[in-house]
Amino acid sequence: MHYISTRGGVAPVTFSKAVMMGLATDGGLLLPEKIPTIDQATLIEWSNLSFADLAKQVIGQFVDDNDIPKVELDRLIDNSFASFNHPDVTPVVKVGDRYILELFHGPTLAFKDVALQFLGNLFEYILAQQGGQLNIVGATSGDTGSAAIYGVRGRKGIQIFILHPSGRVSPIQERQMTTVLDDNVHNIAIKGTFDDGQAIVKQLFNDLDFKKQYQLGAVNSINWARILAQIVYYFYAWGRVSSGTSRAVTFSVPTGNFGDIFAGYMAQRMGLPIENLILATNRNDILSRFFNTGTYRAGTVAPTISPSMDIQISSNFERYLYYLLDEDSEKLKLLMAQLDSEGGFSVEDEIMAKTKPLFWARAVSEEETLATIKTVCDEDGYILDPHTAVGVCAAKDRSGAICLATAHPAKFGQAVEDATGRIPEVPAALHGVMERPTKCLVLPASFAEVRSCIKEVLG
Ligand SMILES: *Cc1c(COP(=O)(O)O)cnc(C)c1O
Repeated sequence: MHYISTRGGVAPVTFSKAVMMGLATDGGLLLPEKIPTIDQATLIEWSNLSFADLAKQVIGQFVDDNDIPKVELDRLIDNSFASFNHPDVTPVVKVGDRYILELFHGPTLAFKDVALQFLGNLFEYILAQQGGQLNIVGATSGDTGSAAIYGVRGRKGIQIFILHPSGRVSPIQERQMTTVLDDNVHNIAIKGTFDDGQAIVKQLFNDLDFKKQYQLGAVNSINWARILAQIVYYFYAWGRVSSGTSRAVTFSVPTGNFGDIFAGYMAQRMGLPIENLILATNRNDILSRFFNTGTYRAGTVAPTISPSMDIQISSNFERYLYYLLDEDSEKLKLLMAQLDSEGGFSVEDEIMAKTKPLFWARAVSEEETLATIKTVCDEDGYILDPHTAVGVCAAKDRSGAICLATAHPAKFGQAVEDATGRIPEVPAALHGVMERPTKCLVLPASFAEVRSCIKEVLG
């Protein structure tokens, strides 16, 4: 399997190369040359596998044996999910008339651990094979940062720089990042929004001299390996819920950067029986507006109680757009140029019609989010985190939907307490996190300042 860019300017590269490249060198995003398809009989066979064994099957479809030998890949996969504190890794629980797919049993209690534990192992393996150093630079709206830091802390040959918007992540999220004191971990709080941070990271990656000199690596969901790891739990959840039939299911996905829901789209393209993908946003609703109107235009970012979705420009959306435009890189480039110059673009109705059978998009208000946390707590005795609640609210008329639970409620204790009057129980992974010593630099939201700071650290 080789990988190409949405913008058509990259000669096909191997999986390992795609992982190390992060953002494609032509400014696009990497995708597999061809989407593998899985037949119904195989799907049903897979539905009895453990999470790790299923991951070996799904991920194995996208990685050639002469790139990473199967035994090595399988070992990496086993290591990646051994750090989860639940035997099912991503258990599915029935809560009222819906299912909750709990993706928060990893070391930092958010779904991003699923992909970033895998990515940390991959980076270490690839570097050991080819030698050299990797300097990871990423922007976070909260959860990516800590999950990435936990994915690579203390690993040989890797330095990590994580930009977070100062004061705009939850106190626990901030502490989860800044209390990691390993020498290879560098937290930078920028005085700006997540989108500012993401723009700075994109600029660093587009600075080809800098990228070459410092061997930059990406952990944002622009990295294909992240999407790949996330595809696995759609297959897993379907297997748990369909109980040996080929029944189609609906997933509800709280969405920010379009990474998680894009993994669901890939699963569907691979042949997984998915009836609908419910795209749930908070009031930062660029994506739900796109699916409902055909116009993609950023507003200003409004802070919410689901801060990991406080995003206006979704870096992964380009991957979906590429498929929506029938893999026409030239047309895609025109739209992306229009986004840069005019702040938005529109897609014709005939094209939008193709999104309809699968996607169903909805923006959820702060009040609805809080009310959902309260209702589910009162009626079903289950505590949702505010991100998960956005997805549960969007799926409220869809009985039997599988709602992705993207964070543990204790990470967003204040919102839960506001909604229910109850303080969620703090799991062992977070004990003492507010008291530990921290390490963090504060910088203005400036490309030049961040660039020189990284240069200084790397010497
Ligand atoms: C990152 C994150 C999301 C959004 O995921 P995307 O892949 O960016 O759409 C939702 N919920 C939580 C808790 C997150 O950390």
